Amino acid sequence: MHVRRNDIIQVTAGDDAGKTGKILNVMTKQNRVVVEGVNYIQKHVKRSEKNPQGGRVQKEAPISASNVLLICQNKNCEKNGKGVRTGSKFLENGDKIRVCYKCGSEIVASE
Ligand SMILES: [Zn+2]
Repeated sequence: MHVRRNDIIQVTAGDDAGKTGKILNVMTKQNRVVVEGVNYIQKHVKRSEKNPQGGRVQKEAPISASNVLLICQNKNCEKNGKGVRTGSKFLENGDKIRVCYKCGSEIVASE
């Protein structure tokens, strides 16, 4: 999986292509991710204590991880704010980081 929870990504395919958002959940086995504000579905809920009216709520549904790209946060990069292909690099201490394919700057997840 090339993305992690809290990564900021851009959607590259499907109805939400072009949208950006934060990854809320990663489903490694299914190779799917849930992205904030992307792929809303109407979900019917029964009445409950939390939801006394019942009815419909909007909820993000998972999308394929192959349809998202990490966003480059380097302001000097020509791809700043857009989805980019990424590579990986190993630091001297052995940590693996993800870097923008264009500018080589590290891509970090938001908190
Ligand atoms: Zn870049």
